Amino acid sequence: MNLRKISVAELPGVGPKRLDAIKSLGINSIYDLLFYFPFRYEDMEVKSLDDAVDQEKILLKGIVASEPVVVRFGYKKNRLNVRVLVENESVMVTFFNQPWIKDKFETGNEVAVYGKWNENRRSLTGMKVIGSSQQDTIDSVYSVNKNIHQKTLVNLIKLAFDKYQDEIESIIPEYLLEKYQLMDDRSMVKGMHFPNSEEENESARRSAKFREFFLFECGIQSVKAKDEQENDGLVEDYDENYVNKFIETLPFQLTNAQNKVVNEILADMKSDHHMNRLLQGDVGSGKTIVAVIAMLAAVTAGFQAAIMAPTEILAQQHFEKIGNLLESLHIRTSILTGSQTKKEHDTIAENIREGRTNVIVGTHALIQDSVDFKNLGLIVIDEQHRFGVNQRKALREKGNNPDVLAMTATPIPRTLAITTYGDMEVSRIDELPAGRKKIETYWIRSQKVEQMYKFVSKQLANKAQVYVVTPLISESEKIDLKNAELIYDKFNELYAPKYKIGILHGQMSNDDKEEIMNKFSHQEIDVLVSTTVIEVGVDVPNASVMVIYDANRFGLSQLHQLRGRVGRGEKQSYCILIADPKNDVALERMKILTSTNDGFVLAEEDLKMRGSGDLLGSKQSGLPDFKVGNPIADFNILQTAQIEAEQIFKDPQAMENPENKVLKSFLNDEFDQLNNFD
Ligand code: ADP
Ligand code: MG
Repeated sequence: MNLRKISVAELPGVGPKRLDAIKSLGINSIYDLLFYFPFRYEDMEVKSLDDAVDQEKILLKGIVASEPVVVRFGYKKNRLNVRVLVENESVMVTFFNQPWIKDKFETGNEVAVYGKWNENRRSLTGMKVIGSSQQDTIDSVYSVNKNIHQKTLVNLIKLAFDKYQDEIESIIPEYLLEKYQLMDDRSMVKGMHFPNSEEENESARRSAKFREFFLFECGIQSVKAKDEQENDGLVEDYDENYVNKFIETLPFQLTNAQNKVVNEILADMKSDHHMNRLLQGDVGSGKTIVAVIAMLAAVTAGFQAAIMAPTEILAQQHFEKIGNLLESLHIRTSILTGSQTKKEHDTIAENIREGRTNVIVGTHALIQDSVDFKNLGLIVIDEQHRFGVNQRKALREKGNNPDVLAMTATPIPRTLAITTYGDMEVSRIDELPAGRKKIETYWIRSQKVEQMYKFVSKQLANKAQVYVVTPLISESEKIDLKNAELIYDKFNELYAPKYKIGILHGQMSNDDKEEIMNKFSHQEIDVLVSTTVIEVGVDVPNASVMVIYDANRFGLSQLHQLRGRVGRGEKQSYCILIADPKNDVALERMKILTSTNDGFVLAEEDLKMRGSGDLLGSKQSGLPDFKVGNPIADFNILQTAQIEAEQIFKDPQAMENPENKVLKSFLNDEFDQLNNFD
């Protein structure tokens, strides 16, 4: 019997009106109803009156001390009053509009009542009477709307369970249930709705989470499998010796994490599997060199490689660094940006088209129609979260199915990477180069700004280079500029001419920006006052102090990115946040930043604080909406589910295996439903 095909109207007492009410919760079939799980459980532990906090929901236990009295008032309204002796104190318990509860109070008997505590009146607004035998109990809370009550819903679920429980087939293959000690679907449904114990509920929840994640991952894997069948990737038969030699000549040794991801990437490139890989690594972890190695490999295989960066400053920086690294190998690099003249552009574009340049660095100018590649084999997208899906796709279409390496420091927890970029494989650089010291972060209020000046003086005397960043204060570039200029004047007043102060902002010409950045790189400028144009990617290892004005105006990930401009060398680095947080969230941000340097920890904190947080920017729509599982809190389960789903889909015949029969038909049904909605 397929419970997804049986309407809830089959249940006794469900007429057209109630049917509509249930449908308004998105419940159509018996299956939907049985899998409409509580969104929360109230863990009811008996409280002592001394511990009760005003307006808190608590469970009190005592002896019924008076006959319950029902008082009617208003139209169809009533209230039940009963006194309960709790720890020698007589507490008034009141229930509204539940006169039938009267029967549960018999004078002299023990009773446990769940409700909202009023500290002033020392009284309880009752919500539920619990059998006195239970010490602790769990209360399921369902999300309902104005059309339907909790109680009605619970009763319907009970009816459905009684009638159809034997028809609940387990979708998760038996071997997985055994391997992870999961409940089958019938026991899980029971344990989710009507647990007899905390343990039963725990186990049901764990099973439900696995099930939810697993089915989601099966969906992703089946899409991916299809993608792979239809897409033949490029085989980039690169020169392994050459690449290894290059790695040996680098001025530093790759970290273990860098080595690991380089191997993952190169293996993908060599295989006919189409690479679609996300490289995550915290700011300063050394992603660029990994990209350079991959690009070099592509070139030795006879292909062109392109890297796209979100800002001109960053593109310029990459161009110089990559150029320096590859020059002696006679690999020709070129840069393409929006600020070039038409003549420059045309010459460069022709070189790209004719295959005269091998490695091309650029901004989104790379995806213009006028740009064609001879044989693009590898695309690197730096700071990929700064590009829209379409821009990424457009670059991809410049070649014949080139391999894609997307890089990001946005601290998307791996969990979210798996769920959001399910079609991408994830490589992660999880260590910083040796010798890096923890950036010390301090937060001060603006009235204490003098402290920062003093600190900066000391640092300058120690030959430190300093960034001073001011946020976009308004939509008006002019006002922002004024803000940066005021700070620039102030720093000049304080430190010039002994120290050189520079200013950088979005309204300067690219040549001017480049000149300032070069001077800062070459230590001809000591203090660089800047707007957020330096936010991403900029790499000046000698800079060791980052001062951020109005830090409360930045999001957590942006602050982390900015802070990541320092701590790139062996010097002790500092970050000073000047902020007057105006609410708890802003305050919490300052505290989190001062307590950790780890972008991933930070991201998870932020997510815990506010659901999806602001880390992923405004468009969070890419995140699937899980009902039972929380991709952060339940990371282990998510990961396990992902691995198992992947395992199944590795074998193209696996779905024909009898043990996956129910799973297969479930996924097919799901797919049919998708088609129906289209
Ligand atoms: P990000 O991951 O933020 O893009 P970068 O690639 O800009 O980081 O690297 C940060 C700095 O660390 C650069 O100056 C780079 O040369 C340096 N670097 C990269 N890898 C190593 C390493 N293994 N050992 C020492 N320094 C390294
Ligand atoms: Mg970078």
